[in-house]
Amino acid sequence: MIPLTDGWGRAIKSLRVSVTDRCNFRCRYCMPAEGLEWLARDEVLSFEELERVVRVMAGMGVDEIRLTGGEPLVRRDVPTLVALLARVPGVADLSLTTNGVLLDRLAGPLVEAGLHRLNVSLDSLNHARFAEITRRDALDRVLAGLAEAERYPALRPIKLNCVAVRGFTEVEIPALAELARRRPYVVRFIEFMPLDADEVWRRDEVLSGAEIRALIEESWGPLEEIPAKASSTARRFRFADGAGEIGFVNPVSEPFCSSCDRIRLTADGQLRTCLFSRREWDLKEPLRTGASDAELERLIRFAVSHKELKHRINDEGFVRASRSMSQIGG
Ligand code: SF4
Repeated sequence: MIPLTDGWGRAIKSLRVSVTDRCNFRCRYCMPAEGLEWLARDEVLSFEELERVVRVMAGMGVDEIRLTGGEPLVRRDVPTLVALLARVPGVADLSLTTNGVLLDRLAGPLVEAGLHRLNVSLDSLNHARFAEITRRDALDRVLAGLAEAERYPALRPIKLNCVAVRGFTEVEIPALAELARRRPYVVRFIEFMPLDADEVWRRDEVLSGAEIRALIEESWGPLEEIPAKASSTARRFRFADGAGEIGFVNPVSEPFCSSCDRIRLTADGQLRTCLFSRREWDLKEPLRTGASDAELERLIRFAVSHKELKHRINDEGFVRASRSMSQIGG
């Protein structure tokens, strides 16, 4: 097996698969209140097409698969897709990122199908503020979904992703940090990135990981850093008394592109070699016009050989990605 490697010598181990561009939330840092124009159903890759791409990728050493959206669980029968992908030889890790509102019903079927890990978006534990940022009054359902997921020890770790926005997140930090101490959740604060569909992102709205860490340490004393794997997007910390883990994903203030091992597949079959790509590689056409696995492999290797070295958020003249977050899938 010849591992999939980019033009900078980085081994690509992780594929994020968007299974739909649709979502049942309207988070302010992601999409407008009215939503976006959704892909037509026949534009979206079928489970069989997704399974085929994952199988070809796994044959090149891509062994970490994460399912994303939009909101992946709004697509029907995602546990069926999980079961398909869990049987693909070479897939060692299967995870899913969700807003959690459908987890109360689907956590069990997802685990039975073979899901290993879960990331749940959670920006506030206050009902009014949760509704303010997601434009949905759904905090109780998300917490019920988390409680349901907790019932399955096989589904670990359970990570909570909090998008950190200056002027909003500061007051959320104590409650979220306390949650990491009380429940088996790893709470991660993710810096706000210029991937919002409204294109209103401003640098001064980025609340950095270092600032959040300082706020947490004001209350709980110095956090202890935990070693993380080289390609990890998060810096991991535990509380001094050992109760709970906190993570900081700092793509703006501490970019981690040098060890990036990720590529992405959009719901309509476009391969993106970077979250901030302005170029995509079409896999849908070859998938639907009889390309062989070998031809797919050649196309993927060619695309990855052109993978961007890094994002350019901090560079003069930064140009936004060609799609917004919900159309890429994070
Ligand atoms: S911005 Fe692009 S290169 Fe950097 S870590 Fe993300 S996907 Fe990788």
